[in-house]
Amino acid sequence: MEKFIMAIDQGTTSTRSIIFDHNRNIVAMSQKETNLFYPQPGWVEQDANEIYLSTLAVCMDVLSKSSIEANQICAIGISNQRETTILWDKKTGLPIYHAIVWQSKQTDVICDEWKEKGYEEIVKKKTGMRIDPYFSASKIAWILNHVPQAREKAEKGELLFGTVDSWLVWKLTGQKIHITDVSNASRTLLFNIDSCQWDEELLSVFDIPKSILPEIKPTSYFYGNTMPAIFLNEKIPICSVVGDQQAALFGQGCFEKGDVKNTYGTGGFMLMNTGNQIVRSQSGLLSTVAWQIGNEVTYALEGSIFVSGSLIKWLRDEIKIVHSALETEEMAQSVSSCNGLYIVPAFVGLGAPYWNDKCRAAIVGLTFGTNQNHMVRAALESMAFQSKDVLHSMVKDSGVSFTSIKVDGGAAANNFLLQFQSDILMCDVKRYKINELTALGAAFLAGLNCGYWTKEDLKMELDYVFKPSRSKENVDQIYAGWKRAVKACMTF
Ligand code: ADP
Repeated sequence: MEKFIMAIDQGTTSTRSIIFDHNRNIVAMSQKETNLFYPQPGWVEQDANEIYLSTLAVCMDVLSKSSIEANQICAIGISNQRETTILWDKKTGLPIYHAIVWQSKQTDVICDEWKEKGYEEIVKKKTGMRIDPYFSASKIAWILNHVPQAREKAEKGELLFGTVDSWLVWKLTGQKIHITDVSNASRTLLFNIDSCQWDEELLSVFDIPKSILPEIKPTSYFYGNTMPAIFLNEKIPICSVVGDQQAALFGQGCFEKGDVKNTYGTGGFMLMNTGNQIVRSQSGLLSTVAWQIGNEVTYALEGSIFVSGSLIKWLRDEIKIVHSALETEEMAQSVSSCNGLYIVPAFVGLGAPYWNDKCRAAIVGLTFGTNQNHMVRAALESMAFQSKDVLHSMVKDSGVSFTSIKVDGGAAANNFLLQFQSDILMCDVKRYKINELTALGAAFLAGLNCGYWTKEDLKMELDYVFKPSRSKENVDQIYAGWKRAVKACMTF
């Protein structure tokens, strides 16, 4: 009987389930959009139950589409949006508040307080991160402080906290197993990257009770079986749990120190594998855990860009100058340049390397000649400019220079974007045939654990290599314009 691996990719805007065969082909895929709520300016929330129900729905759907029986699935691997924070009641299994999404800025006051109290240095040293609403700790504190009785309940051991991975594993195992993996734990601001354990001192200064935290496990690991009621009495082992960006790094085959990948999803994420070494950034990048297999922990340097593909979604849904993300490629190519137009998509502030949570988006350089094609082109260009900013910092911090990067994510389907990125980075940009590398990374990690694949099986076929085609003078000139636009946005 042929066997398969099922990946669950729980992203910010949708949940996907994909079944892979042994040759790493996608046998079937199911996707369901999930709602985002914006209760106040800068706040971003989701319904945690909807996240779980969408996961069940896509898992059922992918099985029925593929006509594969549940007993043919060797293992499930889960990749998930990171940092998004859920607190739920241990007994009822009900979330006590919406999931606070990674993009949300509702905890900026808490973060300002923590900075004023001088916690910045210990946070940086212990976690490799920085104090920012992006990470889970301030979101946990916010829920504990704002939801009636939450703190009392937490102190009595009646509440559990989890990022989306913990929530899904807890629900899928019949409300039994409360775990997370090192890649997700390293995004909470409560995790010590040297010891790979929860940090007692940080828990104490942030006033977060340890009893609500999940147990930390490796990334490729047998956590438990799904409860029988889900898959027609079959129990399927869950064998990997991994943050989406680290999953993509693994799926891209970035196994060696110095390998870099760039994901263009809702946000933009560039990660460099730094091996068993924690590289401390001097330029606003994060030192994160990439994964743990057995006892071996691999680290990465990361630049997170808050708004990338979601800028295109905004042009489609709010500004309504495009009907679909797909047509942006042709629109951008229909004009030869932006004519000096720049969009700085600081809708929720700017992430790496600027880390400014107060500034907001700006469009500069408008003329009467500006039309929607220039706007679309400037939007796509801004995605590439942001990754150039991050790449510059990575080279500076790590001392490693490279000749190519690997790309994935929804917007990596856009040929204009990748050619422009290659031009301004002046390096090769490589895209694989399979674009679902986040799901594939989770599948690989699960398949390695259950013996379905070995590391040698994980080599992939390239789809296209974009080669740089612009002069250095031209690149310098347009990039200088981008830097001026960012400065204008931050000083407004
Ligand atoms: P996530 O996993 O973060 O939810 P995806 O990796 O699926 O997101 O990427 C979706 C994002 O990419 C959306 O914000 C969408 O606007 C953008 N996108 C999708 N296709 C294209 C395209 N062809 N060109 C530009 N942007 C695109």
